[in-house]
Amino acid sequence: MIIDTHTHLLDVGHWPDQWWDWVAEDWASKKPGRQAAAVRGRIEEGLIDSSGARMLSRMDQAGVDMSVLLPIDWGPDFTGTLPITEVVDKMLDLSDRSDGRLIPFGGIDPRGDGAAERVIEWFERGIRGLKLYPSCGWDPTSDAAMEIYAVCEARRAPVLFHTGHPLPVLEAERSNPLHLKDVVLEFPDLPVWLGHAGAPVWWAEALEVTKSGPNVRLEMSVWLWDDSDMDAEIEFTRKILEAGESVGFDRLMFGTDHVSGVKIRQPGFLPSIVGMYQRLPEHAARLGHAISPDQMSLIMGGVAARDLGLDT
Ligand SMILES: [Zn+2]
Repeated sequence: MIIDTHTHLLDVGHWPDQWWDWVAEDWASKKPGRQAAAVRGRIEEGLIDSSGARMLSRMDQAGVDMSVLLPIDWGPDFTGTLPITEVVDKMLDLSDRSDGRLIPFGGIDPRGDGAAERVIEWFERGIRGLKLYPSCGWDPTSDAAMEIYAVCEARRAPVLFHTGHPLPVLEAERSNPLHLKDVVLEFPDLPVWLGHAGAPVWWAEALEVTKSGPNVRLEMSVWLWDDSDMDAEIEFTRKILEAGESVGFDRLMFGTDHVSGVKIRQPGFLPSIVGMYQRLPEHAARLGHAISPDQMSLIMGGVAARDLGLDT
């Protein structure tokens, strides 16, 4: 079974003005004479997949059985988004209509009033975990954040933290995985998923945090991209071996950061990333190591299934 532990499925109003502005400026800066204003209003439509149909068909193409949907609570510093309750409602609705293939997470900024109560209500309605994004401007060791982790630990529900370089409009330093070490020590039974495993700058830090608790996982999205060459695949294989041999292959998870809008990610994105993962045993052998079929099935979905309570 293949579970993609890091995807985004967007509808209108899920991401903020500041993000669309940044994308428009970036696009304009790539060619003299281009005007950001000319494209600004049309970017969002290229990223949305309101019914989830494109996500499901791309999963079919790539042989992905299930995908974890990660909504983002952008918090008070960003504008133009729907209330996070509506965004999470959408994830729950998409999941209901997907025959269990889309796994809904919640997203919360702990600074909001009644954040913990809101998370409890979402768990009652079916979310399977939380995506947290401290780079939106909050401290992952604050009391309010700790209250949220306690809610999740009591349910053994995973919390995926964004770690590594954040989206360009956000604060980078808050995404250093080392900030999560105290969280891991305080909540040993909480499945902590280190989203992107610190990519591209904090691999050693991510591995160090993984070593500090029994339920920390390295979610490996972004280290490989659809344009990764053979050298990048070999480098990635070395990371998988380093983690597998030091903390165990049951700490590693397949993820892609797939986004299912028509104008984002190439149509071949998902199959090509899956293909690179499936070549891991081959590359490992060439490096004089081994990754067994059982270890591969842990990485591709077994570890996630266990943390998500999907074990049969
Ligand atoms: Zn992401």
